[in-house]
Amino acid sequence: MFQLKQSGGIWLGAFSLFPEEGLVHGISTRFGGVSKAPFASLNMALHTGDSPSDVWENRRLFAEVLQVDAERIVTPRQVHGDEIHIVQAADAGMGAKRFDESVFACDALLTQEPDIPLMLCFADCVPLLFFDPVQRVAAVAHAGWKGTAARIGQKTVLRMQEVFHSRPQDVLAGIGPAIGACCFAVGEEVTQIFRAAFPENPQILSRSSEGNATVDLWAANRLQLEEAGLLPEHIDSADVCTMCSAERFYSYRKAQGNTGRFAAWIALRRDVN
Ligand SMILES: [Zn+2]
Repeated sequence: MFQLKQSGGIWLGAFSLFPEEGLVHGISTRFGGVSKAPFASLNMALHTGDSPSDVWENRRLFAEVLQVDAERIVTPRQVHGDEIHIVQAADAGMGAKRFDESVFACDALLTQEPDIPLMLCFADCVPLLFFDPVQRVAAVAHAGWKGTAARIGQKTVLRMQEVFHSRPQDVLAGIGPAIGACCFAVGEEVTQIFRAAFPENPQILSRSSEGNATVDLWAANRLQLEEAGLLPEHIDSADVCTMCSAERFYSYRKAQGNTGRFAAWIALRRDVN
Protein backbone atom coordinates (compact mmCIF):
# COMPACT_ATOMS: atom_id res chain seq x y z
CA MET A 1 0.00 0.00 0.00
CA PHE A 2 1.19 3.52 -0.86
CA GLN A 3 0.36 6.23 1.63
CA LEU A 4 1.07 9.93 2.03
CA LYS A 5 2.14 11.09 5.47
CA GLN A 6 2.70 14.65 6.62
CA SER A 7 5.65 15.91 8.62
CA GLY A 8 5.59 19.67 9.15
CA GLY A 9 4.67 21.07 5.74
CA ILE A 10 6.37 18.21 3.94
CA TRP A 11 4.37 15.30 2.51
CA LEU A 12 6.07 11.97 2.19
CA GLY A 13 4.77 9.10 0.08
CA ALA A 14 5.83 5.64 1.23
CA PHE A 15 5.17 1.97 0.44
CA SER A 16 4.16 -0.19 3.40
CA LEU A 17 5.92 -3.10 1.62
CA PHE A 18 9.35 -1.66 2.43
CA PRO A 19 10.71 -2.16 5.96
CA GLU A 20 11.39 0.87 8.14
CA GLU A 21 14.40 -0.75 9.75
CA GLY A 22 17.70 -0.67 7.88
CA LEU A 23 16.16 1.25 4.99
CA VAL A 24 14.66 4.64 4.34
CA HIS A 25 12.62 5.60 1.30
CA GLY A 26 10.16 8.28 0.29
CA ILE A 27 8.47 9.97 -2.62
CA SER A 28 8.11 13.74 -2.41
CA THR A 29 5.12 15.79 -3.55
CA ARG A 30 4.72 19.45 -4.52
CA PHE A 31 4.00 20.50 -0.93
CA GLY A 32 6.23 22.17 1.63
CA GLY A 33 9.06 23.65 -0.45
CA VAL A 34 10.36 27.13 -1.28
CA SER A 35 10.26 27.19 -5.11
CA LYS A 36 8.09 29.75 -6.89
CA ALA A 37 5.65 29.13 -9.77
CA PRO A 38 5.79 27.29 -12.11
CA PHE A 39 8.03 25.12 -9.90
CA ALA A 40 6.04 25.56 -6.68
CA SER A 41 6.90 24.41 -4.31
CA LEU A 42 9.07 21.35 -3.55
CA ASN A 43 10.88 21.07 -6.90
CA MET A 44 13.73 18.58 -6.60
CA ALA A 45 15.34 19.04 -10.03
CA LEU A 46 18.19 21.38 -10.93
CA HIS A 47 17.76 21.17 -14.71
CA THR A 48 14.30 22.76 -14.98
CA GLY A 49 15.34 26.43 -14.80
CA ASP A 50 14.45 26.82 -11.13
CA SER A 51 16.78 28.65 -8.72
CA PRO A 52 19.55 26.21 -7.67
CA SER A 53 19.52 27.55 -4.11
CA ASP A 54 15.74 26.93 -3.86
CA VAL A 55 16.20 23.37 -5.15
CA TRP A 56 18.97 22.77 -2.63
CA GLU A 57 16.72 24.06 0.17
CA ASN A 58 13.93 21.73 -1.01
CA ARG A 59 16.29 18.75 -1.04
CA ARG A 60 17.59 19.70 2.40
CA LEU A 61 14.04 19.97 3.81
CA PHE A 62 13.03 16.57 2.46
CA ALA A 63 16.29 14.96 3.62
CA GLU A 64 15.57 16.28 7.09
CA VAL A 65 12.22 14.48 7.14
CA LEU A 66 13.85 11.25 5.92
CA GLN A 67 16.72 11.76 8.37
CA VAL A 68 19.37 11.38 5.69
CA ASP A 69 22.31 13.62 4.76
CA ALA A 70 21.40 15.80 1.74
CA GLU A 71 25.12 16.44 1.11
CA ARG A 72 25.49 12.71 0.29
CA ILE A 73 22.68 12.51 -2.32
CA VAL A 74 23.64 10.73 -5.54
CA THR A 75 21.56 11.68 -8.56
CA PRO A 76 22.13 11.23 -12.30
CA ARG A 77 21.53 13.20 -15.44
CA GLN A 78 18.42 11.26 -16.60
CA VAL A 79 18.21 10.60 -20.33
CA HIS A 80 15.30 8.14 -20.85
CA GLY A 81 17.78 5.35 -21.58
CA ASP A 82 18.54 2.01 -19.95
CA GLU A 83 22.01 2.63 -18.50
CA ILE A 84 22.48 1.65 -14.86
CA HIS A 85 25.13 2.98 -12.47
CA ILE A 86 26.45 1.08 -9.45
CA VAL A 87 26.94 3.67 -6.71
CA GLN A 88 30.16 3.32 -4.69
CA ALA A 89 31.13 5.06 -1.46
CA ALA A 90 33.27 7.58 -3.38
CA ASP A 91 30.20 8.71 -5.38
CA ALA A 92 28.51 10.27 -2.32
CA GLY A 93 27.35 13.80 -3.13
CA MET A 94 27.34 13.46 -6.95
CA GLY A 95 24.73 15.93 -8.19
CA ALA A 96 23.61 16.87 -4.67
CA LYS A 97 24.14 20.59 -5.24
CA ARG A 98 25.27 20.99 -8.84
CA PHE A 99 23.69 19.50 -11.94
CA ASP A 100 27.05 19.33 -13.75
CA GLU A 101 28.33 17.05 -10.99
CA SER A 102 25.52 14.49 -11.50
CA VAL A 103 26.25 10.89 -12.43
CA PHE A 104 26.59 11.00 -16.21
CA ALA A 105 23.65 9.94 -18.37
CA CYS A 106 21.88 7.04 -16.72
CA ASP A 107 18.38 6.19 -15.50
CA ALA A 108 18.89 3.72 -12.67
CA LEU A 109 21.13 3.64 -9.61
CA LEU A 110 21.85 0.72 -7.32
CA THR A 111 24.02 0.35 -4.28
CA GLN A 112 25.05 -1.73 -1.32
CA GLU A 113 26.61 1.33 0.34
CA PRO A 114 24.79 2.60 3.43
CA ASP A 115 23.88 6.24 4.07
CA ILE A 116 23.90 7.33 0.43
CA PRO A 117 20.46 8.60 -0.61
CA LEU A 118 19.80 7.62 -4.23
CA MET A 119 17.49 10.19 -5.79
CA LEU A 120 15.75 10.34 -9.18
CA CYS A 121 13.36 13.04 -10.42
CA PHE A 122 9.93 12.60 -12.00
CA ALA A 123 6.95 14.35 -13.57
CA ASP A 124 4.73 11.65 -15.19
CA CYS A 125 7.50 9.04 -15.75
CA VAL A 126 7.34 5.93 -13.57
CA PRO A 127 9.48 5.83 -10.40
CA LEU A 128 10.63 2.29 -9.54
CA LEU A 129 12.10 1.61 -6.10
CA PHE A 130 13.80 -1.70 -5.21
CA PHE A 131 15.10 -3.30 -2.05
CA ASP A 132 16.66 -6.71 -1.51
CA PRO A 133 16.57 -7.35 2.26
CA VAL A 134 18.78 -10.47 1.95
CA GLN A 135 21.79 -9.05 0.07
CA ARG A 136 20.93 -5.54 1.27
CA VAL A 137 20.75 -3.73 -2.05
CA ALA A 138 18.75 -0.57 -2.75
CA ALA A 139 17.91 0.71 -6.22
CA VAL A 140 15.82 3.31 -7.99
CA ALA A 141 14.94 3.55 -11.69
CA HIS A 142 13.31 6.12 -13.98
CA ALA A 143 10.90 4.46 -16.39
CA GLY A 144 9.24 6.87 -18.77
CA TRP A 145 7.59 5.32 -21.80
CA LYS A 146 11.01 4.88 -23.43
CA GLY A 147 12.55 3.33 -20.32
CA THR A 148 9.48 1.14 -19.80
CA ALA A 149 9.67 -0.14 -23.40
CA ALA A 150 13.45 -0.64 -22.98
CA ARG A 151 12.67 -2.64 -19.80
CA ILE A 152 14.83 -0.63 -17.46
CA GLY A 153 12.99 -2.09 -14.44
CA GLN A 154 13.75 -5.63 -15.54
CA LYS A 155 17.36 -4.70 -16.34
CA THR A 156 17.77 -3.18 -12.88
CA VAL A 157 16.70 -6.47 -11.26
CA LEU A 158 19.04 -8.38 -13.59
CA ARG A 159 21.94 -6.11 -12.57
CA MET A 160 21.09 -6.69 -8.89
CA GLN A 161 21.41 -10.43 -9.62
CA GLU A 162 24.68 -10.10 -11.57
CA VAL A 163 26.49 -7.69 -9.28
CA PHE A 164 25.08 -8.42 -5.83
CA HIS A 165 23.72 -11.98 -6.23
CA SER A 166 20.18 -10.87 -5.41
CA ARG A 167 17.52 -13.54 -5.89
CA PRO A 168 14.50 -12.06 -7.71
CA GLN A 169 12.11 -13.77 -5.29
CA ASP A 170 13.67 -11.74 -2.44
CA VAL A 171 13.42 -8.37 -4.19
CA LEU A 172 10.70 -5.90 -3.14
CA ALA A 173 9.56 -3.26 -5.64
CA GLY A 174 7.43 -0.11 -5.47
CA ILE A 175 5.88 1.48 -8.54
CA GLY A 176 5.41 5.17 -7.69
CA PRO A 177 3.01 7.87 -8.86
CA ALA A 178 3.13 8.29 -12.65
CA ILE A 179 0.84 9.15 -15.53
CA GLY A 180 -1.93 6.54 -15.67
CA ALA A 181 -3.63 4.85 -18.60
CA CYS A 182 -6.49 7.30 -17.89
CA CYS A 183 -4.31 10.15 -19.22
CA PHE A 184 -1.46 8.64 -21.23
CA ALA A 185 -2.79 9.03 -24.76
CA VAL A 186 -0.14 8.18 -27.35
CA GLY A 187 0.32 8.33 -31.11
CA GLU A 188 0.71 5.50 -33.57
CA GLU A 189 4.52 5.40 -33.27
CA VAL A 190 4.49 4.81 -29.49
CA THR A 191 1.65 2.29 -29.86
CA GLN A 192 3.79 0.31 -32.31
CA ILE A 193 6.80 0.40 -29.98
CA PHE A 194 4.73 -1.04 -27.12
CA ARG A 195 3.08 -3.64 -29.35
CA ALA A 196 6.57 -4.80 -30.36
CA ALA A 197 8.03 -4.59 -26.84
CA PHE A 198 5.15 -6.50 -25.18
CA PRO A 199 3.80 -8.85 -27.87
CA GLU A 200 2.27 -11.18 -25.26
CA ASN A 201 0.51 -8.40 -23.35
CA PRO A 202 -1.92 -6.51 -25.59
CA GLN A 203 -3.88 -5.51 -22.47
CA ILE A 204 -1.41 -2.71 -21.72
CA LEU A 205 -2.76 -0.93 -24.82
CA SER A 206 -6.24 0.46 -24.75
CA ARG A 207 -8.43 3.28 -26.05
CA SER A 208 -9.71 6.30 -24.18
CA SER A 209 -13.34 7.42 -24.36
CA GLU A 210 -12.17 10.00 -26.94
CA GLY A 211 -10.83 7.18 -29.07
CA ASN A 212 -7.12 7.83 -28.47
CA ALA A 213 -4.70 4.94 -28.01
CA THR A 214 -3.43 4.74 -24.42
CA VAL A 215 -0.61 2.85 -22.71
CA ASP A 216 -0.75 1.49 -19.16
CA LEU A 217 2.81 2.16 -17.93
CA TRP A 218 2.01 0.90 -14.42
CA ALA A 219 0.98 -2.51 -15.80
CA ALA A 220 3.87 -2.64 -18.29
CA ASN A 221 6.32 -2.16 -15.42
CA ARG A 222 4.60 -4.66 -13.15
CA LEU A 223 4.59 -7.25 -15.96
CA GLN A 224 8.31 -6.95 -16.64
CA LEU A 225 9.13 -7.20 -12.93
CA GLU A 226 7.06 -10.37 -12.62
CA GLU A 227 8.81 -11.70 -15.72
CA ALA A 228 12.13 -10.97 -14.00
CA GLY A 229 11.03 -13.30 -11.20
CA LEU A 230 9.63 -10.90 -8.60
CA LEU A 231 6.69 -12.31 -6.67
CA PRO A 232 3.40 -10.50 -7.38
CA GLU A 233 2.96 -9.89 -3.64
CA HIS A 234 6.40 -8.25 -3.58
CA ILE A 235 5.33 -5.54 -6.03
CA ASP A 236 3.41 -2.56 -4.69
CA SER A 237 1.90 0.06 -6.99
CA ALA A 238 0.87 3.54 -5.88
CA ASP A 239 -1.83 3.62 -8.59
CA VAL A 240 -1.73 7.42 -8.44
CA CYS A 241 -1.96 9.25 -11.77
CA THR A 242 0.26 12.34 -11.72
CA MET A 243 -1.79 14.11 -14.39
CA CYS A 244 -5.08 13.54 -12.52
CA SER A 245 -3.29 14.63 -9.30
CA ALA A 246 -1.25 17.50 -10.75
CA GLU A 247 -2.01 19.70 -7.75
CA ARG A 248 -0.15 17.15 -5.62
CA PHE A 249 2.52 15.75 -7.99
CA TYR A 250 4.32 17.47 -10.86
CA SER A 251 2.92 16.49 -14.26
CA TYR A 252 4.95 17.33 -17.34
CA ARG A 253 1.96 16.81 -19.63
CA LYS A 254 -0.47 18.79 -17.53
CA ALA A 255 1.97 21.73 -17.31
CA GLN A 256 3.00 21.36 -20.96
CA GLY A 257 6.59 20.89 -19.88
CA ASN A 258 6.97 24.02 -17.75
CA THR A 259 7.09 22.58 -14.23
CA GLY A 260 9.25 21.04 -11.52
CA ARG A 261 9.95 17.44 -10.52
CA PHE A 262 9.17 15.36 -7.46
CA ALA A 263 11.71 12.77 -6.41
CA ALA A 264 11.96 9.14 -5.32
CA TRP A 265 14.58 8.59 -2.63
CA ILE A 266 15.98 5.39 -1.17
CA ALA A 267 18.95 4.77 1.16
CA LEU A 268 20.33 1.87 3.17
CA ARG A 269 20.93 2.59 6.84
CA ARG A 270 24.32 1.84 8.36
CA ASP A 271 23.00 1.01 11.82
CA VAL A 272 21.53 -2.39 10.89
CA ASN A 273 23.32 -5.50 9.68
ZN1 LIG B 1 -5.01 10.29 -15.11
